[in-house]
Amino acid sequence: MYKYAEVIIDLVSNAVDRPFHYSVPSAMQKDLKPGMRVTVPLGSRRTQGYVIRLLRETAIDSLRDIIAITDPEPLLTPEQLALAHWLSMRCYCRIIDAIHAMIPASFRKGKQPGVIQLIEATPAAATVNLDRAPAQREALHLVLEKGPLSRSELARLGISSQIIRSLEKKDLVKSTAGRPAQVKKEKVPPSTKPLIMRNEQANCFEQVSEALELPQAQRILLHGITASGKTEIYMQSIAHCLGQGRTALIMVPEIALTPQMIEHFEGRFPGLVAVIHSRLSVAEKNRQWQTILSGEARVVLGARSAVFVPLDNIGLIVIDEEHETTYKQEEAPRYHTRDVAWWRARHQRAVLLLGSATPSLESYYRALEGDGLLLSMSERVTPTQLPPVTIVDMRKELKENHRHIFSRPLIVELTGVLERGEQALLFINRRGFAGFVLCRECGYVVRCPSCDVSLTLHKDRQLMCCHYCAREESVPLTCPSCGGIKIRYFSAGTQRVEDEMKKLFPSASLIRMDSDTTSSRQAHEHFYRQFRDHKASVLIGTQMIAKGFDFPGVTLVGVVAADTTLNLPDFRAPERTFQLLTQVAGRTGRGPRGGLVIVQTYHPTHYSIRAAAGHNYREFFDQELENRRQLAYPPFSDLLRFLFRGPDEATVFEAANWFTGLLEPIAGEAEILGPAPASLYRIKEQYRVQTILKGEALTRLAPAIKKVIREYHSHKPPWPTRLAVDFNPLVVL
Ligand code: ADP
Ligand code: ZN
Repeated sequence: MYKYAEVIIDLVSNAVDRPFHYSVPSAMQKDLKPGMRVTVPLGSRRTQGYVIRLLRETAIDSLRDIIAITDPEPLLTPEQLALAHWLSMRCYCRIIDAIHAMIPASFRKGKQPGVIQLIEATPAAATVNLDRAPAQREALHLVLEKGPLSRSELARLGISSQIIRSLEKKDLVKSTAGRPAQVKKEKVPPSTKPLIMRNEQANCFEQVSEALELPQAQRILLHGITASGKTEIYMQSIAHCLGQGRTALIMVPEIALTPQMIEHFEGRFPGLVAVIHSRLSVAEKNRQWQTILSGEARVVLGARSAVFVPLDNIGLIVIDEEHETTYKQEEAPRYHTRDVAWWRARHQRAVLLLGSATPSLESYYRALEGDGLLLSMSERVTPTQLPPVTIVDMRKELKENHRHIFSRPLIVELTGVLERGEQALLFINRRGFAGFVLCRECGYVVRCPSCDVSLTLHKDRQLMCCHYCAREESVPLTCPSCGGIKIRYFSAGTQRVEDEMKKLFPSASLIRMDSDTTSSRQAHEHFYRQFRDHKASVLIGTQMIAKGFDFPGVTLVGVVAADTTLNLPDFRAPERTFQLLTQVAGRTGRGPRGGLVIVQTYHPTHYSIRAAAGHNYREFFDQELENRRQLAYPPFSDLLRFLFRGPDEATVFEAANWFTGLLEPIAGEAEILGPAPASLYRIKEQYRVQTILKGEALTRLAPAIKKVIREYHSHKPPWPTRLAVDFNPLVVL
């Protein structure tokens, strides 16, 4: 018998971030299982906790008793418990943060167990005579009429649990695990049949199928240009995997999880798909979760957080658009979906299939190195070719006295599109807010010589600063490269583009989509429909419009300033630029009239812009990999970012310095950068300062780093500063 239990206290606090031991009263010993929630004493109070392990013995004496078991069934599966432990090490988060990531908040809050118990009538119920027990008769009548009902629904209908118990004793009703019948889906999409695959598709599919037959986990990268038909490969691979009696988990970026996408999968696998994303209502999320727990859902389609669903017997995990930054969680636990998916694939001996037209450097490099399989598709399924891309040199525009935010070629093309009644997308990356200084005559941007990221302008101090290594420089009055005097802070946003459009084309109908205009999912949908139904001719937007949209009417895509992405003070800026340009280019040329892409930039010769214009991933990859090798950035190293933030500038620096001092003796070969002001130095009254640890295989240092973090948190008096740790952050601003 297990007499003791390790419990993680359900409080988000560093003070209780370790397992606590309790003894299990003998009456509970046969029921208690790992993964269950319990009530335990903690100091003078009572609190909830999660049992993570049962123990036969413990070195600690005079333990206190567990007070009560909360749920009849474990809320966490053994796999989730193991995963939570791994996450806490990998992402340097509290174990409770990792546990919370596994279960929807709505499940954690109520007393509701993981599986809803439904009460349904037994065959005997049809013939029984209950005239002498009218309350029971009425209850049974309800159950017969309305189908299986949960206990809470019965309670709402005025039926006590005592009556249910009496009916259970007479074997007239029984409880089953499942979902309430009354929340059936109203609309079932038309079912679809597998398509006949093209050669390239069939080849790739065959290799995925072979991998599915192997007994160990397999990692496959599917590099296929836009419209090469990757989704069809996913769907046929899922079918193969279901045929083996296994289940499949399909991850898509939140933004791509449109009703169209969902219909695709529901149409192919009717009745078998559960959909999980962050904007579901609580009731809807619970319902989807039930179908997973009850085994009814064989295919789970979801955004980031769905990677934790308690799906058993997984044969295939797909990550579509694997390079997307939304796969990285920016709050604790700061995991990357790809890493969690690979952990699960190994745990369940499944195939991990990563798909993208512009794979992340990390994934492509790994596949090239022979770690996993690399599959490619270089032809479009659709009859249209990839659209031609014209690069417009904005320096030249200026030299020829054209100072408008739209270049002359872009104005010409916009005019044509409007005259012909076609549609255009205008794209501007608003994250250009992290201000950089650019020479408008030659395109020169001041960069840090050791980190190769653009220096960030700190307006208040009139200084430029490298937020990796803290190097500071004053703002030049003339361009160090060409001697020109038009060197200044560069910024442009969607609002500005909209204003200029209105001035130039007063009669054109416009839609602007950015995080300000589309805070709700409905707004997003609404604009999408409006544009698709030709209610507007020009759609202006941020990266939001670069993904997943499929508008055959679009014949022109204008990238107003490629430089805002290119000069983000982040070593991944060239990679982001290449991905974004490739994606926006994929938004046009989908219809019979073809399409054209215009990219405006002050860096017309930059390799990521040239490679995107030539639709050449490999050209981009080779150059970028070489740069990363020279500066020892990922994939040649790991980065670990420690971000300190607080209201008092001096204390934040003091805390960061103190912490960095603790890192020095354990860093070994790894390089310590900073502390330095973060690129976004002040957000919401908080100063932000960071230290970056850079080195090969940093996971080796994890235990020592965890210790340093613990020491930091137990500093007395506590720093009035928060620390966020991010392993291989995707965005360092
Ligand atoms: P990707 O995900 O690679 O960008 P999609 O999966 O969206 O490409 O495919 C592009 C279009 O081609 C879709 O409309 C899809 O239905 C269609 N398609 C894919 N494969 C085939 C095929 N074998 N035969 C006909 N149409 C196909
Ligand atoms: Zn630097």
